[in-house]
Amino acid sequence: MIRVILLVLVIIALSLGGAWIADHPGSFSVDWLGWRVETSFAVALAVLVVGLVALAIVVRLLSGLVTGPKSFLRRRAERRRRRGLEAMTRGLAAVAAGDARDARKLSARAERLLDAQPLADMLAAQSAQLAEDPAEAERRWTRMLEHEETAELGLRGLAVMARRQGDGAAAVARAREALAKRPGTRWALETVFEVKLAEGDWAEAEAALTALERHKHLDREESRRRQSALEIERARADSAAGHHDDATTRARTAVKLAPGRPEAAITQVEVAIAAGKLPVARKLIEQNWGAAAHPELGRLYVTLLGGNTTPTERVQRARDLAQIAPTQAESRLLVAETALEAGILGVARDSANKIAVADRDTRAERIAARAAEADGDWQSAAQAWHRAADARPAPGWICSRCNTVHTRWHAVCGSCGSFDTVSWSRPATVPAAMPATTGPAPVVGSAAATPPMDPAAPGRPPAAA
Ligand SMILES: [Zn+2]
Repeated sequence: MIRVILLVLVIIALSLGGAWIADHPGSFSVDWLGWRVETSFAVALAVLVVGLVALAIVVRLLSGLVTGPKSFLRRRAERRRRRGLEAMTRGLAAVAAGDARDARKLSARAERLLDAQPLADMLAAQSAQLAEDPAEAERRWTRMLEHEETAELGLRGLAVMARRQGDGAAAVARAREALAKRPGTRWALETVFEVKLAEGDWAEAEAALTALERHKHLDREESRRRQSALEIERARADSAAGHHDDATTRARTAVKLAPGRPEAAITQVEVAIAAGKLPVARKLIEQNWGAAAHPELGRLYVTLLGGNTTPTERVQRARDLAQIAPTQAESRLLVAETALEAGILGVARDSANKIAVADRDTRAERIAARAAEADGDWQSAAQAWHRAADARPAPGWICSRCNTVHTRWHAVCGSCGSFDTVSWSRPATVPAAMPATTGPAPVVGSAAATPPMDPAAPGRPPAAA
């Protein structure tokens, strides 16, 4: 609106000025080097204006001729760069989506369009890896080592490749190269930790773990939990090698680091038994029985302490231990199981039947059924088997990652290679069918919790994170 008003005002001013100049034509004369021009002032003014406009047009054209090719080239380069970056972005997306064919195509295009070799190498290496072309991937990752700023990425790529190919030593070597350049590099420490775990080299794994904590990559709680798992394995190894004092210290450390772990308490007892310190072992079990009663501790108490014991003596031992926490399900299970093995059926049935309904699982029902069967009470046996089919599953050493049930606790799951995922817990699924009373007798007691397999396969690399 304001512009319209201004335009109108300018037009009015121009027409008034034109009219005024027409009313006062005046005269204009030039006398120069024999040239003589005589005209009115209005005409001279018009010639001057036209001349200035023509001069401006000529200047514009000339400058366009001089700078034109340069800006054309600049625009072309800009377009190329934009297309290169677009190919790079789409290539990275294709890698993330696992589309090997598109990834390689886009990677080649990005490399052709972009003058950024390390970046192009990275995309090309990832694409080659996706297309399962390890030679090309290795060539690209290795080339990235030449540039200071991409050397670490190259080392990481090579380490990941080595682990995929099952070459733990090469992966650790690359990780150590990275650590030499930048101590505390998280991926490198984690690589060393995981490879050493898979190799069962607990000492080296623990060193890497300590470094991870020192560089603040792990919180204290997590670090202590992991450390206790490693200390348990190291205590077992020391004990097996006859280094009983070291084993004792490590087992004690494991308990201190993670007081609630049954596997730590069990290891402490096993280590004491291996060292021939039976009174110490007995005392440890008794200390644990109140708050942390565990069937393995009960079994150790009954069978391993004191050597050649008669079945009746074993039942007495079970009763002695059960006295510490008489109403606890584990106490009653231990007495029932030991009495059943000793053929003292009355005690076995009585103890199994006394377990509170809320605490009953398949172990209690199976012991009750077996004891009733042995007693010839087929009706009670059938009822107990029936209850066993619906009862809660018995606890066991179960990997939370792959659900494999192990016969023994391990720091590394032998099935899926995960670290510190095996714990004493109940499986999520209920046991399938009620066993036939006339068929072969099922396994009794806590042993019933353990399926036959323990697919520990040492040396397997952990699952890629
Ligand atoms: Zn597992």
